[in-house]
Amino acid sequence: MKRIIFYGAILLTTLWACTKVPLSGRNQLLLVSDSEMNSMAFTSYKQFLDTSTVVPASSQQAAMVKRVGDKIARAAQSYFESTGNPQYLNGYQWQTELVQSSQVNAWCMPGGKMVVYTGILPITQNETGLAVVMGHEVSHAIAKHGAERMSEGLLAQGLLVAGQIGLGIAMKDKPAATQNLWNSVYGLAAPIGAQLGMMAHGRYQESEADHLGLLFMSMAGYNPMEAVTFWERMAAKSAAGGSKTPVWLSTHPSDATRIADIKSRMGEALKYYNASSRSGSNGRY
Ligand SMILES: [Zn+2]
Repeated sequence: MKRIIFYGAILLTTLWACTKVPLSGRNQLLLVSDSEMNSMAFTSYKQFLDTSTVVPASSQQAAMVKRVGDKIARAAQSYFESTGNPQYLNGYQWQTELVQSSQVNAWCMPGGKMVVYTGILPITQNETGLAVVMGHEVSHAIAKHGAERMSEGLLAQGLLVAGQIGLGIAMKDKPAATQNLWNSVYGLAAPIGAQLGMMAHGRYQESEADHLGLLFMSMAGYNPMEAVTFWERMAAKSAAGGSKTPVWLSTHPSDATRIADIKSRMGEALKYYNASSRSGSNGRY
């Protein structure tokens, strides 16, 4: 009888907490809410910025980074409004900052908190190249990959048991272990800062972020064909770097398969890009 109740609870949890990732349609299990994830992300983001050198918005490069972030965020919001899901991004507080660092890296935390490091700009080269990177990172946040990893971790480590849902419960019962899990998901190794955002995504999450990123950059009015040349530049940088593989690549594996996958999505992306060009209002899909 106990066993039946146990499996019943798992089934109920699964039914209740199973959602579909927008655009890709993949099923995912989320045991934590946006508001729980966002509030932890906003705290970590603030701590990170407080201990980093943020490039002032008056600089041309920082202005470009913010412009790309804004256009992609607006395009995403517009997409959800036009597909009858206007509340999907509720609670997001989009923010993009350029941070002085030689690291080749960029990331977006839950709730739309983005950072681009100056070290990636020589590879992105132009605004469209930057849109490839930021489209990818924003897609990790929109597809709730962090919440998914937290959910998996909470179950795997027994911080939530069958039938339980919510980061609040785990935080209340086992605060230290739950905080450690968050830190490991977001690479928040002490001292805070240098490692933040290097989330170890799974392969399927990477490929999903490539797919969605291509579509969101297209909706924002950036030519998705540039994604192929950007990834070729990244691959060349990686090959030339030997052991000094750019951070962004060490967590975002690049290979011929990835470029081939992106090419196979091009037809879908170009439809969004052409619609965005026709409307004459980039960023408003
Ligand atoms: Zn990624």
